[in-house]
Order: sequence, then C-alpha cells, then structure tokens
Amino acid sequence: MNNILIVGAGIAGLAAGIYARKSGFNVTIYESHTGAGGNCTSWRRKGYLFEGGLHWLTGSGSDKPLNRVWREVGALTEETRIDRGDPFKICDWSSGTDGTTVRQRVCLYRDMAKLKKHLCEVSPEDAPRVRALCRDITRFTAFSVPVMDIPLLKTTVKAPSILGLIKMLPAVVRIPFLSAQSVADYAARFKHPGIRLLLSSVVNPNYDATALLVTLGCLASGDGGYNEGGSVALAANMTRCFEGLGGVIRYGKKVEKVLVSGGRACGACIGGETVPADGVIVTSDTLRAIDTLFDLPVREGWACTMRAKMYRPGALIMCSFISIGVEADLSDLPESTAFPLENPFEHAGRQITSLAYKLYRGSDGYAPKGCSAITLIISGDSYDYWKQAREQGCYDDRKRELFEQILAALEKQLPAITGKVAVWDVATPLTYERYSGTWHGSWMTITPALSRRVFYPCKPKRIRNCYFAGQRITPPGGTPVAVSTGRTAAQYLCRDFGVVFTS
Ligand SMILES: Cc1cc2nc3c(=O)[nH]c(=O)nc-3n(C[C@H](O)[C@H](O)[C@H](O)COP(=O)(O)OP(=O)(O)OC[C@H]3O[C@@H](n4cnc5c(N)ncnc54)[C@H](O)[C@@H]3O)c2cc1C
Repeated sequence: MNNILIVGAGIAGLAAGIYARKSGFNVTIYESHTGAGGNCTSWRRKGYLFEGGLHWLTGSGSDKPLNRVWREVGALTEETRIDRGDPFKICDWSSGTDGTTVRQRVCLYRDMAKLKKHLCEVSPEDAPRVRALCRDITRFTAFSVPVMDIPLLKTTVKAPSILGLIKMLPAVVRIPFLSAQSVADYAARFKHPGIRLLLSSVVNPNYDATALLVTLGCLASGDGGYNEGGSVALAANMTRCFEGLGGVIRYGKKVEKVLVSGGRACGACIGGETVPADGVIVTSDTLRAIDTLFDLPVREGWACTMRAKMYRPGALIMCSFISIGVEADLSDLPESTAFPLENPFEHAGRQITSLAYKLYRGSDGYAPKGCSAITLIISGDSYDYWKQAREQGCYDDRKRELFEQILAALEKQLPAITGKVAVWDVATPLTYERYSGTWHGSWMTITPALSRRVFYPCKPKRIRNCYFAGQRITPPGGTPVAVSTGRTAAQYLCRDFGVVFTS
C-alpha cells in the first residue's frame, strides 16, 4: 500500500486524509500543533467556550451539493442539529440630533418575504433598492459551491454533472455587475445608515459585492447554519472519522521541508529526520508553503500569480479577535448584532466607527449557567502594529487598551454587563500566525472589486506526487474551500496512482 504524508490537520488535511484513506492509501498527517482543526477552532477559559472559527457553515443545508461532502468526511451526520436563527443578524442603529436619540432596529432576516417587508418599513425611501436587493438574493439562493470530479477519475460514485450548474445562471449573469463594486459600495446605495451598516457587516466590506450576495443567498436558501458544537465539533467529528478509518495523526510535528527527488515528492523532513512517503499533500497555508516548504521556492506561473495577488496590502483577511466572558444572562438578546459607536476610537492606525458582536449562551454550553460569552472581530491588517508592540514590550498593554475601548462601547450597548466581566482575551494576527502558521496570521482571501478571481491548482506541474489543498486554493477560502480542495487533492492522488477514488 502507498504511504501518503499530509502536512497539517486542519479541515483540508483531515478531508484529504479521509478520502485518501477511504481510497486505500496508508495516511499519516503531521500537525505542528497539539490538536486538529487549524483555524476551525474554539478555546475554553474559566468555564467559557469562545467560538473562534465558524460563524456559519456553507453546506449545512441538506439539499446542497457540499452537504454530501461534509457527510462523507463525517463532519455532519443525520443527528447533527443545525441552528438557523432568524434574524441572522441585526443592527441597532441610533442617531442623535438636538439632544434626542433615535433608535431603530434593522434585521437581516433569512426569510425573504419578511426581509423585504421589514426593510421597506424601516426605510420607505429605500423601497426600490430593497426590492432589487431581494431579487438579487433570490437569484443567489440557487448558487452553491460546486462539487465536481477531476477529469479522467475512476470513482465509485460520480459527482453530479456540470449540468447542475445551469440553475446558477440567473446568479452568474449578475456577477459582472456585482464584482465591479465592493460590498461597501453596494451598501452605500441605501439611504438608511442602519441598512448600510448591516449589509457592510455581513462579510468583509472590501470584498467585491458578489461575496455579499453569495452569503445572503446562502442564508435565504436554508444553508449557512451553525452546527451544534461549532468548530470544535466539526473538527472532532472529522478527526474521529479519519482515525476510525485507520489514519494516523502525529501531533507536535512540524514539517520543515517537503523532500523532492528526481522531480517527485518523496517524503518530508520532520524534526531533523527524514520521513519517506510515496506522495505528499500540503494543506498548510499554500502561500507560505510555496516559499518555505521546498528546497527551492515553487516558481510555476500560478505560484507567481498567487504571490502577486496575495502579498498586496489588504488582500488577505487578518483580525484581532476579542473574547469576553460575562456573568450576565443575555439569552433574550439577538445572537449577532452590529452597532455604530458614539465615540469612535483609533486602533492600529484605523478609525473604528462600529462594532459587531456575537453572543453565546450559557444554556447552550458556551458559558457557566446564567452567564454569556461574547466575541468580536476587528478586521484589518494590524500585523505590523502588533509586531511592533511586541518588539517594544507593550504587547499586553496594547491588548488591554483594545479590550477596554471595546468594553466601554459594549457597556453602553449592553448595560447589563457593566462590572460583570469574568474573563477576557485578545487574539492578534501574531496569535493566528503562531497557532496555524498562516502568512501574517491571515485566514481568508479578499477578492476586491474589479479584480479577477483566481482558482489555483491542487497539483503543481513540475513536482510529481505532490498536491496542495486548503483555504488559499480558491478565494475567499473558508471551510467549504478547505474541505472541497482536500477532496480534489485526494482525487489527483488516486488518478496518479491508478486507484479508484472512494467517497
Ligand atoms: C475568526 C475566524 C472566523 C471564521 N469564520 C468562518 C466561517 O464563519 N465560516 C467558514 O467557513 N470559515 C470561517 N473561517 C475560516 C476557516 O476557519 C478557515 O478558512 C479554514 O479552517 C482553513 O482550513 P485549512 O485546513 O485550509 O487551513 P488551516 O486551518 O490553516 O489548517 C492548516 C493546519 O496546518 C498546520 N500546519 C501549518 N504549518 C505546518 C507545518 N509546517 N507542519 C505541520 N503542520 C502545519 C496548522 O497548525 C493547521 O492545523 C474563520 C476563521 C477565523 C480565524
């Protein structure tokens, strides 16, 4: 039996490992961290569980092609409870003139009829734009991540034919219009500032607007739910599936180099030792791997394009992630809220004018009884800011400063938490870099307006028996790309070794 070595036990590595193992390969995953899941993770502090990855799961809808993949890798089962809270998100808008404050709640409902009625009531002058938005969302309900087989694959079960893509045509014809503007531009056409903020806070506002409509369509179609247990459960289910099939994960083992001999991947150097293998699947950050994981940087055309596109400022998503445990029961409040700041503050050279937080309830196991876990993401490239803070010895002080600024804003929004903080933490891009080895701690890729979306190959031309998978391969990334590229890499492996791909 051929021995396959996989670099990284994130979602892509686990998926590749499961399909390779099902197809009859001997598979060992080498993971530098002490656990599996990579960026699909959560962390526990003093009885609080902070969801650090999944906010919604594409493919959690049972009629979606990707759902079959999530089931094949054991991530979701018949029994998995999927939460599809409606509204998905709200914006608590407040504005003040002449000493009076006007407060208005704007809701992003999954239910299209409800959404249209609600937004038209909130802002009658936006009615034509609301109707256009809802038409776009309807078109995108048929859009889904395609799951296809590579050409000339021998397989036990064929993926649905490409003809299935035809139903996506109404959405596809809107892409030229949407991809010519950013999410922020698309939102800016609405007159109501609360609608603008709500739409800009669903996905990163610098993405091209296609990403917003893909997400809204996903939510409206019954997809984009949150699986019970979130990131940790998803990764644990896949780990169990992989190990149940006889796959092996070696933790605390960082792959230093992929070894190539005679143009063929033949193993890896791990902890100074040579580990031979018949094939290698690299699922750690492709952007880093092409420059650091081989004796010579990978110089193929696609790798040069990846560097050119991704080493540009603002091309990748990085964040500071703030988690706060409070001894207050907030279970009657919406799960996901955006709100404007009365007192904007500066962070890492950027003006923060609004915040968005997620609430997790004690009754769902995310906090001690009667308590709540709150998480917030401050997006933006703050890598150099944090790096400099660490070099200057004020890293922890800066973390506290950011936490205090956020807490002050949150206490105005949620007075019940005042004086009730039990635990807090700030993860920075440096934390993500240390934890998952991604470039500058980035965890997704932005395709800005008017730029071409590039699909990178899972297989280099000049290194045989070597494969790539993971979030970088298809922008914007995320777990759907991780799992589907893991599957594609395993298909190339099967084709190269003349083996039937078994799903
Ligand atoms: C705050 C946040 C929110 C998110 N929200 C969502 C969401 O709502 N929905 C969604 O779908 N996605 C979301 N994502 C993105 C998603 O979590 C990631 O895109 C996805 O988990 C990436 O999986 P991956 O397997 O490609 O890579 P990674 O998760 O980066 O896994 C790579 C693995 O390789 C290991 N590794 C790295 N280098 C080496 C080496 N040299 N040797 C051995 N092992 C190595 C790492 O430790 C890691 O375990 C979010 C991410 C974050 C951080």
